[in-house]
Amino acid sequence: MDCIFCKIIKKEIPASIVFEDDKVLAFNDTNPQAPVHILVIPKQHVATVNDLDAMNVVRDLFAVMNRIAKEKGIDKTGYRIVVNHGKHAGQAVDHLHFHLLGGRKLTWPPG
Ligand code: 5GP
Ligand code: ZN
Repeated sequence: MDCIFCKIIKKEIPASIVFEDDKVLAFNDTNPQAPVHILVIPKQHVATVNDLDAMNVVRDLFAVMNRIAKEKGIDKTGYRIVVNHGKHAGQAVDHLHFHLLGGRKLTWPPG
């Protein structure tokens, strides 16, 4: 399958990895929109949030994001978790990914 994030998981493409275990990979976004901009993904290929049925991995993803927020020191200042789904939200990579953004004041609403 020609999935760029699966290639990152298989170490076929380099990435700046922040956290890894058997289920979850977290790495720095190559086009950061905030001082902290980390992508947190399940190692199992799931295309979108529409395909998440009965997957316990969401719990693991949030546990990892919680841990990274503490490590990066943004757990107190605040952060945003974003999932873009589909065309209207501008999803560019069809492998489910959570954006963890922080380190600056984030505006609301998003565009
Ligand atoms: P989306 O628009 O699908 O929600 O977000 C895709 C994100 O993946 C973008 O923020 C983009 O900068 C990031 N991205 C795309 N390709 C790569 C890559 O090869 N490596 C890394 N680290 N990030 C990527
Ligand atoms: Zn994939």
